[in-house]
Amino acid sequence: MKLSLDDLETLNSQTEIVNLPDQIWDVIIIGAGPAGSYAGIHLAGKKLKVLLIDGSAFPRDKTCGDALIADSIKCLEKVDLIDTVRTYGFEANNAVVSSPSGHKVDIKGDYITLKRRYLDAIIVEGAVSHGCRFTQGYVNNVEINGDFDFRTFVKNFEHPIKSKLVFIATGGNISLPQKLNIIKKKNPSGIAIRSYIKSNYVINDLIISFDDSILPGYAWIFPLGKGEYNIGCGSFFTSMKNDTQRLKKAFSRFMNTFPEAIKLVSGTQSELSLKGCPLRCGLSGAKFVTEKQMLAIGETIGTTFPFTGEGIGKAMETGELAAEIASDALRMNKPVLLKTFSKVVKAKLESKYFGYKMAEKISSNRSLLDAATKRASQSKKMQDALAGIVAETVNPKSLISVSSLVKAMRNSE
Ligand SMILES: Cc1cc2nc3c(=O)[nH]c(=O)nc-3n(C[C@H](O)[C@H](O)[C@H](O)COP(=O)(O)OP(=O)(O)OC[C@H]3O[C@@H](n4cnc5c(N)ncnc54)[C@H](O)[C@@H]3O)c2cc1C
Repeated sequence: MKLSLDDLETLNSQTEIVNLPDQIWDVIIIGAGPAGSYAGIHLAGKKLKVLLIDGSAFPRDKTCGDALIADSIKCLEKVDLIDTVRTYGFEANNAVVSSPSGHKVDIKGDYITLKRRYLDAIIVEGAVSHGCRFTQGYVNNVEINGDFDFRTFVKNFEHPIKSKLVFIATGGNISLPQKLNIIKKKNPSGIAIRSYIKSNYVINDLIISFDDSILPGYAWIFPLGKGEYNIGCGSFFTSMKNDTQRLKKAFSRFMNTFPEAIKLVSGTQSELSLKGCPLRCGLSGAKFVTEKQMLAIGETIGTTFPFTGEGIGKAMETGELAAEIASDALRMNKPVLLKTFSKVVKAKLESKYFGYKMAEKISSNRSLLDAATKRASQSKKMQDALAGIVAETVNPKSLISVSSLVKAMRNSE
């Protein structure tokens, strides 16, 4: 499939809700971000009748850093969308991470940046080309009448839409999941803000800075190509005093003190327009399967990584796992199979969160973070291991152990 950016801008894959066929869908997916659309591709690939519903008209912006790392890239390869993404994205092969005291470490890898306006349009277009129908509508309730018998209610549309199953993929927006009793922890794990900026100053690496005022969290500068950059910062809540206002102040400090940020801003005329969004991280905070056998996927169930806030890849992976289980349950006419979803997600994905959880802990200790970055900057072996963790070829447990933390702590004293 080859699309032009104009195709994506004028994307016409949303069918008016009134024009949808009057039928019982196999699966209705609420939310057409990476989790929902990717699940749609896999379900439609199994010849199921799938309806994707999103509250926004596509293409739509999504507040994000717009960076794809190895897990996202693998998912997109699997469904033959990676070439399109590479065509419109910006490719980088290095991320430079700075500690609060300015120690720097390079993490080599395959990174792509592409505005979510386009990335999400490409994935949803992939779902439609596999046979999904896609409509615009804000879902305000879902009811179950019995096994494989759901009714989905869309705002300003009088007829409930019938389906055998429902997936909830509403991301950080928890209004609907809360109503459906899916959310166990209302407060998000953190918050992140970002802006786009055009500048004559050229940066080709992804830049990440653990600025003092943002800890535990970081600021980023991600090049998007053609002189455009995604700049922002995210912080994880150690207490609720971390709010958007504090983050905006911390970001302003970063922009006025971080050397690359100063150069970037001096090469631009554009004003910053910061947008913020909550982060739900660490595979926690929500039920994966409800008592009523709805499956929740993506950021709704906390798929975003702690520490880095990367979440696109794991959101898609949960979409694929849900699609596998749902299609087995429908084919065998066994709703009870849906209950295995939590176990399957945990067995496949939980270990991937370990390194990021540990790193988030380290990052709230400034001197430990400095010591760890300094050590990594001097050790090619550690740099390779860090690149391996990001690429998911190295088990984080091999790098981050309690003894290595104690050692680093001693060195930092
Ligand atoms: C500032 C910031 C920077 C980030 N940077 C990165 C990054 O660089 N790389 C990365 O991998 N991750 C990043 N993330 C995380 C990433 O954005 C999420 O992990 C990812 O978007 C989760 O995908 P999703 O499909 O679960 O949800 P979403 O992408 O949020 O999609 C949910 C969809 O559901 C729709 N929806 C919600 N409620 C309803 C409803 N009731 N009815 C109908 N539709 C509804 C929304 O319109 C939306 O389209 C960042 C997050 C933030 C906030």
